[in-house]
Amino acid sequence: MRPEILNPLFAEVTALPGLGPRLGKLVEKLAGPHVVDLCWHLPSGLIDRRFAPKVAEAPEGGIATLTVRVDKHFPSPNRRLPYRVLCSDETGAITLVFFHARPDYLEKLLPVGAVRIISGKVERFRGEAQMSHPDHVATLENKDSLAAVEPVYPLSAGLTPKVVAKAVRAALDRLPNLPEWHDPAWKKKNGWMSWKDSLLAAHAPERAMDLNLDTQVRTRLAYDELLANQLALAISRAHMRRQRGRSTGAQGNGALRRKVLAALPFKLTKSQEASLSEITADMAAPSRMLRLLQGDVGSGKTVVAFLAMTAAVEAGAQAALLAPTEILARQHFATIEPLAKAAGIQLRLLTGRDKGLPRAKLLEDLAEGRVDVVIGTHALIQDDVAFKDLAFVVVDEQHRFGVDQRLALTSKGKATDVLVMSATPIPRTLTLTAYGDLDVSRLTEKPAGRKPVDTRVVALDRMDEVIVGVRRALDAGEQVFWVCPLVEESELSDMAAAEDRHKALSEIFGERVGLVHGRMKAAEKDAAMSAFVEGRTQLLVATTVIEVGVDVPAATIMVIEHAERFGLAQLHQLRGRVGRGDKAASCLLLYAKPLTQTAKARLKILRETDDGFVIAEEDLRLRGAGELLGTKQSGLPRFRLADLAVHGELLAAARDDAALIMALDPQLQGPRGEALRVLLYLFERDAAVLTARSG
Ligand code: ADP
Ligand code: MG
Repeated sequence: MRPEILNPLFAEVTALPGLGPRLGKLVEKLAGPHVVDLCWHLPSGLIDRRFAPKVAEAPEGGIATLTVRVDKHFPSPNRRLPYRVLCSDETGAITLVFFHARPDYLEKLLPVGAVRIISGKVERFRGEAQMSHPDHVATLENKDSLAAVEPVYPLSAGLTPKVVAKAVRAALDRLPNLPEWHDPAWKKKNGWMSWKDSLLAAHAPERAMDLNLDTQVRTRLAYDELLANQLALAISRAHMRRQRGRSTGAQGNGALRRKVLAALPFKLTKSQEASLSEITADMAAPSRMLRLLQGDVGSGKTVVAFLAMTAAVEAGAQAALLAPTEILARQHFATIEPLAKAAGIQLRLLTGRDKGLPRAKLLEDLAEGRVDVVIGTHALIQDDVAFKDLAFVVVDEQHRFGVDQRLALTSKGKATDVLVMSATPIPRTLTLTAYGDLDVSRLTEKPAGRKPVDTRVVALDRMDEVIVGVRRALDAGEQVFWVCPLVEESELSDMAAAEDRHKALSEIFGERVGLVHGRMKAAEKDAAMSAFVEGRTQLLVATTVIEVGVDVPAATIMVIEHAERFGLAQLHQLRGRVGRGDKAASCLLLYAKPLTQTAKARLKILRETDDGFVIAEEDLRLRGAGELLGTKQSGLPRFRLADLAVHGELLAAARDDAALIMALDPQLQGPRGEALRVLLYLFERDAAVLTARSG
């Protein structure tokens, strides 16, 4: 399927010359499995070897390239002392120092009396110039082997700069000339070179500024990646749009909705109303809906989703809500149950706990259409779950599910409309990368009566005061979350930190302290969470596995240890878990000294605003998309060449470009279309090419 021209780029890195299985594995871990991944492994610095002073003038600590004569060898007298080679030019002497060297190798490399070019860092030791382990030694004849400026690559344990540079070189030697996929006028306007020349240039920086992400070279490469991303999304979206939809709710008179509204103990916020009418307009339209409903925890998404469901029910069809965990499914059920009752809507819950006869009965009711709305977990996706007429699917925290899982549920109905709900406040630019031009509704206001959470930034060494505050809350019957950071690379030690904290707090507060972390079995986690939700424990020590959206109205304090290690969006989400009842709530961000300027600025934002979207934009600005902790959890794609903090504006251009391509040549058949297919394969968007072909 993949165009042959790309084959060399998709060979295994382990097959590159000079990389055996052992180094190959390390390079694979560093960059990726294919040759193309090494091509994307761009330099992070450079070494300038053009400075070629006389020995006497070579400054200490700098890189210099010296032309010297070899005078004398001093083999190491024992294993701990180095082998030394004395060299000089007409201005002075320099000693080359080698630890654990093989004498025969050094005699060959540096024969006495010969002239050699050496390059490396110059040091001064007791007034004498020396260079330990020169980076390069060349003869006058092959002095061209010494690059004037060397790219410096990011490394990982076990790899030397030389090995990585050589591997990248070998990868670049295989670069084919690819057809140009960019519009000629756009390319010219930006002053871009071809793909191959751009990539070669990106690996050959001459000055420090060539490493900047906003050079023409880096911009072109970033745009390639963004266009592949946006085009793939546009293709799958166009495919979805072409599928017949159904017009749901247009015929009804909204009687069910009015009953639910009448049963609500509150008035909808303006943005709830706006979102609801956007969703119902989509449902009534004859094409399929795929819409994202974004809003902070507690902004009232569930209520909106249920009101939208009434349109499906009124049309005589069914609706389903898919939640990522048992607890969240139960919570949604609890929110919706009284409303469903008031409107006479048949509501059921289906989770992994349902077994045997009751489950069989429930499945029968679903299949026969005696159930209008079902809320559930993955249990909803199982093969034997069938609907009479499923018209509307709501997916909560969509990033916890694969696209396959979503499809497994929607395919149980005909032309099912889909609403995806997310509490992860992601900046608009990032939403684009994950969902393309997916329609988005946003809940930007909090329901009336919510008090802002008093947010404080506190140094970890003031733990005693924190404990006093916590004790006061616990004694007043309130509840406290205590979050310990979880950093992926060291899951085990962080777990230990949470366990230690649990132990320490248990010694102070006794039985009232619970613990939940990622290494626990699902049932244990559920039990620990339920104990807290039901108030049997009052203080819950947790790693960040604690569920987004878990509603504990009596929780008034959120303590977050090492807040400086979290993404702002994540901190904001954690904070959203308190202040949901009628008592004043606070959030304590504990940090380890010293805080960097950026870290300070970040925590300050959190203190100043409660708007998840503002916070997400600021975090992106301050740290860049690659750094957004929790990005992985939000299901956003990771880019190799594009950095949205720098190239954010390109993304909008790529989206428009993709839309134009879809309008002009949706099956990618023209000459530019052919080239764009190569682009999609280059960025491993194979599925998109197949979809485009299928029309
Ligand atoms: P989300 O799903 O966005 O986290 P929910 O829909 O679960 O939020 O709502 C959180 C709580 O706020 C629920 O108890 C819900 O009944 C309540 N709520 C929702 N909308 C409003 C509103 N407009 N005014 C007051 N309370 C609301
Ligand atoms: Mg909710």
